[in-house]
Amino acid sequence: MTLTVGTAIAATGSRARGVIPVTTFGGGRALDIPVIVLHGAQPGPCVWVDAAIHGDEPEGTLCCHMLDAALDPSTMHGSVVLVPVLNVPAYEAAQRGNPLDTFSYDLNRIYPGREQGYLTERIAYAHSTWMRAVADFEISIHSGGAHSYLAETIFTTTQPEAIELAKAMGTDWKLILKNIRPQGSPPAVMFEAGKYGLTVELGGRSATSPTAFQQCARTLTEGILNVLRYYHVIDGAATSAPTHYTGFQHALLAPVSGLFLAETDLQFLTFMQRGDVIATIVDVYGDVLAHLSAPADGMIFGLRALPNVQTGDWCCFFAEIEGEL
Ligand SMILES: [Zn+2]
Repeated sequence: MTLTVGTAIAATGSRARGVIPVTTFGGGRALDIPVIVLHGAQPGPCVWVDAAIHGDEPEGTLCCHMLDAALDPSTMHGSVVLVPVLNVPAYEAAQRGNPLDTFSYDLNRIYPGREQGYLTERIAYAHSTWMRAVADFEISIHSGGAHSYLAETIFTTTQPEAIELAKAMGTDWKLILKNIRPQGSPPAVMFEAGKYGLTVELGGRSATSPTAFQQCARTLTEGILNVLRYYHVIDGAATSAPTHYTGFQHALLAPVSGLFLAETDLQFLTFMQRGDVIATIVDVYGDVLAHLSAPADGMIFGLRALPNVQTGDWCCFFAEIEGEL
């Protein structure tokens, strides 16, 4: 038996590369979604990994390369589909959305897409059609992109099976935030199909030095390998974080424009109390304009990358913690 995704046709126990065709550009070049299919020798679940849904988040792309190098389909029970770059025009432009599309710019807001829709809706449609048919589990890899850094954070729905999938990411992933009814994303398509998907976040502009970028991709890779161990696609014992915290996200926006100075002893994924200072914004003369503080008991899981800040800019991703999972 073969496993087919687009033009990639993998025989049992082997891998194949190919594309999901979308359309052709005016200059004659194809708009495709590249895929790597690893079809295990034995039956088992299909885990589908999506990277670079946002074109300025290439951590997942390197993670797909690492997964491809780490996996041997001849010993796998089940299959893995890797999409190293989902939003190709956005990736080529190193932008969040597709610069060629005014009306459906952000691919992660328009799923399941439309066959006869705007350009990016057609990318979503082509991708979601194959994913819905082939995948049992989906993992969407994100990061803070050009604007932020995000520490290890998972967003998932609240069914037990979805939380089980989130916990299967293993040791490094202790923050699992609720997205009760996802809309417009690949995990939302999985949810509608009665299957399970995750959004995982790690990395971004403040972690793109050679070692930091590789480390983000390695941590993502280890998490997904742990998922594959948990569901017995590959051999080995799966790990688990000792505690999992859950809650919901607050977006802390800049109250004023200026220079954003985060507290120098600030720690990601570490408990803070409501009112603890996160950052100070100063004006061009260095005088304090405003403080940003914790809106609840919880923890920071992301911070803006550039100290230059305008009123209303995203400054901090804060998780209000409701308890343990
Ligand atoms: Zn993203």
